[in-house]
Amino acid sequence: MTAAVSLREVSCVFRSSGKSVHAVDRVSLDVQSGEFFTLLGPSGSGKTTCLRMIGGFTLPTSGSISIHGADVSQLPPYSRPVNTVFQDYALFPHMTILDNVAYSLMVRGVDRSTRDRRALALLETVQLPEVAHRKPVQLSGGQRQRVALARALISEPKVLLLDEPLGALDLKLREQMQSELKALQRKLGITFIFVTHDQHEALSMSDRIGVFNKGRLEQIATPSELYNRPSTRFVAEFVGTANVLHGADAKVFGNASTIMIRPEHIRLELGTQTPTESIARVEGRVQEVQFFGSFWRVTVQRPNGAESLLADLAVHSAPQAPSVGDVAHLHWDDAAIHPIEDRDSVAP
Ligand code: ADP
Ligand code: MG
Repeated sequence: MTAAVSLREVSCVFRSSGKSVHAVDRVSLDVQSGEFFTLLGPSGSGKTTCLRMIGGFTLPTSGSISIHGADVSQLPPYSRPVNTVFQDYALFPHMTILDNVAYSLMVRGVDRSTRDRRALALLETVQLPEVAHRKPVQLSGGQRQRVALARALISEPKVLLLDEPLGALDLKLREQMQSELKALQRKLGITFIFVTHDQHEALSMSDRIGVFNKGRLEQIATPSELYNRPSTRFVAEFVGTANVLHGADAKVFGNASTIMIRPEHIRLELGTQTPTESIARVEGRVQEVQFFGSFWRVTVQRPNGAESLLADLAVHSAPQAPSVGDVAHLHWDDAAIHPIEDRDSVAP
């Protein structure tokens, strides 16, 4: 099957004041038709540049981009079967919501009654028919976000590009919009390429995620693969909290040069009680305790200056917070250990 969007060895180098910035560095990826694909990474890692190249707003320095099998590398944005929802929505303040949504049809000379009918249908799709005759300033942030979405959908793009579209919303509204957006994507069957720096957002919405680090794609995987089997230290630490161990520790526990264990996979028993398993893998003392609602995240300091470990302790099994200084026994199953690459620690 032809991919909806294919990038082959795509790079983008910006030159500013004599220096070159490799914003995107030899990225290759295939997004399938109907897929919800997320570009995830910290600020400055190249996500927006990558999205802009797919949309045609920035041309690659090298490499090629195709959409449904056709090479679009040199086409301008309006000749590509994609549309973009930008972070700042950029609605026209003097136009009604209906006219904002219908804008691209007006530019193409579609008659008023047809474009009003289509715009109203899309406002219904995003559950906002009642605001058609208002101006953008009379809408809340979440409503404006949905209008921006309707406006991008009216040209019936095969691929919708979304650059941190929920970034300006508060947490509660963002969570609500996440599930609405996901439901809408499923209903319309359009390919979504979604940019975010928020790992929770990426994990909860995406079919697959590509993780960016310094312009490179470090890993492409489903949310559960990414969380459970990160291939590099960067991915392990960016998509969740990870205990990363090297050297002697990694050799003993995992027979590898670097391993990671998620804090929720470490069992913790407190105090002088004998551990239920005959061998505790590690013994130490509670150094710090953070409350996360459903669990305590406990930092356990190991003797002789060994790296401390984080372990999550369910509140239902330990209603009282562990005390700093308590003796802690830690153990885990072999299945909790994952060898990872640690590129930064590898000599060049
Ligand atoms: P992200 O969206 O992941 O935050 P960007 O793609 O915006 O990252 O930026 C990647 C890198 O490219 C950053 O170092 C940024 O400063 C640089 N960059 C982005 N756009 C330009 C530009 N037009 N000119 C020069 N440098 C740019
Ligand atoms: Mg960006």
